[in-house]
Amino acid sequence: MPIAQSDASTLITRFLESLYERQDLAEHLDCYHPDAWVLLGPNLVHRGELEASTYEGAIAALFAMARPGTKPARFELLGEGELSAHGTDHLAMLPMRDRNADRTFTAAFHLRREGAALLFQGCVVLTPETPVPTLETIDAAVAAALSQTSLVPDPGEILLTPLDLAYRRAFPVESYRLLALPETRFTCQHSGHCCTPQHDIPVPRAARQAIEGVDWRAIAPSVPLPLFEAATARDATEESRLVDHGGTCGFRQDGGCVLHAAAGYAPLAVCATYPVDFTATPDGICLWTYFTCPTVRANIGEPLLARHEDMSARVRLWRNAMLLVPDEVPLVDGVPASFHAYATLEEEVLSILARSDRSPRERAVEAVEAARIFARQAVPESVGDALGDGEVDPLGVALYLVLNKHLPEVFRGPLALGDADRLDLPRRLASSGVRYAYDNELITRYLRQVVYRKKYLPEIGVVGHVTLVAWVEGMVRWAAIAQARVRQ
Ligand code: SF4
Repeated sequence: MPIAQSDASTLITRFLESLYERQDLAEHLDCYHPDAWVLLGPNLVHRGELEASTYEGAIAALFAMARPGTKPARFELLGEGELSAHGTDHLAMLPMRDRNADRTFTAAFHLRREGAALLFQGCVVLTPETPVPTLETIDAAVAAALSQTSLVPDPGEILLTPLDLAYRRAFPVESYRLLALPETRFTCQHSGHCCTPQHDIPVPRAARQAIEGVDWRAIAPSVPLPLFEAATARDATEESRLVDHGGTCGFRQDGGCVLHAAAGYAPLAVCATYPVDFTATPDGICLWTYFTCPTVRANIGEPLLARHEDMSARVRLWRNAMLLVPDEVPLVDGVPASFHAYATLEEEVLSILARSDRSPRERAVEAVEAARIFARQAVPESVGDALGDGEVDPLGVALYLVLNKHLPEVFRGPLALGDADRLDLPRRLASSGVRYAYDNELITRYLRQVVYRKKYLPEIGVVGHVTLVAWVEGMVRWAAIAQARVRQ
C-alpha cells in the first residue's frame, strides 16, 4: 500500500504523544526505524542495538529526575505538510509549533518504510540559513547534531529526541556574557589551514559512527575514503582522528568543507570552534584566539565581540568543558587572592604590554615587576622567597615553570641542563650575538592574549601567570634567533 501524506503526520504525532502525554516508551521506541539514532541521556545509541528495557529504564530515570509530568509535547504538528517518496525513503516537510515559545517552524523528516510501517529515521529544523534539505543532508545534519550531543548537556533542558536536538540547534536560547580584548579580530578567510590534519583532529567515537553512516557519495562523490583512522598523538583525547588526504582533510572539497555544507555548520567540535577558545571567569567568558591560524596572526576580520552570534554558537559547544578560573586564585606559594583583585592587576599588565614607547622586553619586565609589587603588598616575605627578589632573572623562572611542565624532556633529555644553567639560559641566548627581528605589533598582541587567556592562572597563581608573559616574550625572541641561525 502506498504511503499517504497523513501517514507521516500520524507517525510524528504518535512519536511525540507516546513520549509525553502517554509516556508509553515502548510505543515511542517503536516509532524509530532500526537504522535511526536514539538519544539516551548524553549518549547515542543505534536503534538496532538498543534493548527496549534499556531505553525504558534510562528514560524513566530521566523523567524521575526532571519530572516533566504528563503535559502535552513541547512540539505539535500544525498540518499535514508535504511528503515525497524516494523508494522506501520519504521526505516529509511538516509545519510545527513550539508550544513553550509559541514559535512556528518547519521540520524536515527523513522517514523510512519498514514492511507496511513508516518509521522515524531523522529530522532537521529549518531556518532561513538551512540548506534545502534532501534525505542525505538530513542524515548529515543528524550525524552532525549527534556528533556534538556529549559536549552540550544542559542541566536546564532534557533532550529526549533528535527533534529536540535539531530544534535547539536552530533556535538556541542561552546567553552568556562574552568578553574579548578589543584588538582581537577574526572572520574566517577560508584559508583551509585548519583543515590540514598534520596534528590529530579528534573525532569522538559517536561522531565517527554517525558520520560514517551517511552516504557521502550521494552528497559529494569525490569525498575520498577512509575519512577516519586511529589517533596517534600521545595526548590524543579521542581514539579516532581525520585522515590526511594529500595534506588536507577528505571532507575539504572545492575550497570548502562538504560536511559543513551538508549540515549547515561544522559538526566536529574542534572544526566548529578553532581558532577561538574560551576561559570562563567570574566576570564572564573570555574569548581568545590561536596564533597558529594565519588569519589570527594577520588580525583580519571583525572584532570578536561584533560576531556575538557566531561566538555564542562556539561557546555553547564547550561551555561545560572550558578552562575555569574560580573566584579565588593562588597569589603565590598557595596564598589566595580574589579573582577581582587579580583582574585589576591584569588590566594594568595589559596596558603595560600595549605601551609602544617600550621594547617588548622592557614591557615584559615591567609587567613582571607589576605582579611582584602586587604580591609584595599582600605577602612581602613569600614573594621574596619565590622570586629571589631580584637575584634571579624572571625570564629564567618563567622558562623553568613552563618548560618543566610542558617539555620536561628538555630538562631530562640530552640537553640535561642543571638548575643554574636553566635559569641562566635566557642570558646565554641573548648574548649569543645572533641578530634577529620580530614584529612588535604581532608580539604585543600575542603577549596581551597570553595574559588574557589566563591559562595557568588557577594552577601557578598570579605571580607565576604574569611571569609567563616574560617567558613567552623570551620564546618569541629565541624562535627568531633560531630562524636567523637557519637562514645564515
Ligand atoms: S571536517 Fe571539515 S572543517 Fe573539519 S578539518 Fe575536515 S574539511 Fe575542515
